[in-house]
Amino acid sequence: MARYIFITGGVVSSLGKGLASAALGALLQARGYTVRLRKLDPYLNVDPGTMSPFEHGEVFVTDDGAETDLDLGHYERFTGVAARGTDSVSSGRIYSNVLEKERRGDYLGKTIQVIPHVTDEIKDFLRIGDDEVDFQLCEIGGTVGDIEGLPFFEAIRQFAQERPRGECIFMHLTLLPFIKASGELKTKPTQHSVKELRSIGLAPDILVCRSEGDIPAKEREKLALFCNVRPESVIAAKDLDSIYKAPLAYHAEGLDQAVLDAFGINPAPRPNLGRWEDVVDRIQNVDGDVRVAVVGKYTQLEDAYKSIAEALTHGGIANRVKVRAEWIDSEIFEREDAAPHLEGFHAILVPGGFGERGTEGKIKAAEFARTRGIPYLGICLGMQMAVIEAARNVAKIKDAASEEFAGADPRAFTPVVYHLKEWVKGNAKVTRKKTDAKGGTMRLGAYDAHLTDGSKVAEVYGETAIEERHRHRYEVDIAYRDKLEDAGLCFTGVSPDGKLPEIVEWADHPWFIGVQFHPELKSKPFAPHPLFEGFVKAAKEQSRLV
Ligand code: GLN
Repeated sequence: MARYIFITGGVVSSLGKGLASAALGALLQARGYTVRLRKLDPYLNVDPGTMSPFEHGEVFVTDDGAETDLDLGHYERFTGVAARGTDSVSSGRIYSNVLEKERRGDYLGKTIQVIPHVTDEIKDFLRIGDDEVDFQLCEIGGTVGDIEGLPFFEAIRQFAQERPRGECIFMHLTLLPFIKASGELKTKPTQHSVKELRSIGLAPDILVCRSEGDIPAKEREKLALFCNVRPESVIAAKDLDSIYKAPLAYHAEGLDQAVLDAFGINPAPRPNLGRWEDVVDRIQNVDGDVRVAVVGKYTQLEDAYKSIAEALTHGGIANRVKVRAEWIDSEIFEREDAAPHLEGFHAILVPGGFGERGTEGKIKAAEFARTRGIPYLGICLGMQMAVIEAARNVAKIKDAASEEFAGADPRAFTPVVYHLKEWVKGNAKVTRKKTDAKGGTMRLGAYDAHLTDGSKVAEVYGETAIEERHRHRYEVDIAYRDKLEDAGLCFTGVSPDGKLPEIVEWADHPWFIGVQFHPELKSKPFAPHPLFEGFVKAAKEQSRLV
């Protein structure tokens, strides 16, 4: 049976609960334990798949094809454990399961209530994989006191009560605001937050307090006394200039020791932090920097391309350079010449996206990279746009376009990118219609691809059989392969049945690769994804040329 650590938040949101959970997971691994990190989100969407990246940040896709919260990305980046669909659940999913059971008659005519039916459903979720790991770390989204969070808080209270004593602990993340005028760090909001938590039956064992600086002994004792935790279980989470410093910083603060103490694990195994020391050394000791333009649509919210930003950082870690990513709204290139905006960058990345807005601008960015010999990485939509650019400007299919763009009359253009209606997953055929519901109906999750021996991409990967995560509805049409290859754009990666183009690259370009999948989802600071490692390496070479 696993031990459980429940992570809750108070005072304000966005304190970095996901990061604290991920860093703790990494520290437990460093002591030789196996971990699983999971997220329980109180919102009513069934999953984040249909939520706008502007609102909620990126959708993180797992190997098993679930569209999940971006915190699962942090978990995976810090622990290297591949996230699964059952690592994330929302109120919407819980309620929809309960209502489905009710419609089926599973409750035998009983009145369905939040307690026990909804809380039971949450507890069933918590028990999944109970015997697989040493520790399950479960983060509850939102902050204590949120109305929709209540069933989750109640469920974890019941869950801890039903388990053998000492097998569940609670960690609460709060904020210690610093009042400049009086020069004081204030503990009152944390006291109130813990009071709120205790009023619903939960008592924290560990307090993690975000603060600008150290917590003086006086405030630490006050927090311990008023919040009923041990002084050594008050952990300062100071602001850091890199999230990858979090595991070592939390270790220095004694977080993992406090957690093991709370479980009564004594003596605790010694940690091996070599992996994180190496990552921090590579971040701190760099040899120059490179500028990368990320030309996309969701440029106002940093979290919308979270995994891409992180994967670029990992590419920097691999090459010992600092990557300066600048987000540029592709729509600008529909009004203005792209050149003055893109000159001076050492590489261009066009990420994934949905809908027509800004796509002509992305095509311009691909054209700029191709004609100027600038390293280019096109991801999903970024690959599709590079193919359309090649079709229009080199293969002379003047009206090449994608079927995705609504209102487009199929007779009025050549669909080099078409709506995928049938494909193979494992040994089964999957079919889709244009009228299908939007939620969960894309080509999702891990699929294999075969790379062409001797191609640039095979050199980058160092192998010819790969597996990568997908999330898209449209696909480049293999029927145009010969025409595009004659023009110089080679299809160097395809699905095992040879029907679906997975990778394209320009034969006569220093580094121009488009991929239909999302490599950024599998990159880690201690194991940078080969495509990002190669892309940043090419950017580094480019920076030495200019
Ligand atoms: N909108 C495109 C498609 O559905 C690309 C999706 C993506 O970039 N993730 O195929």
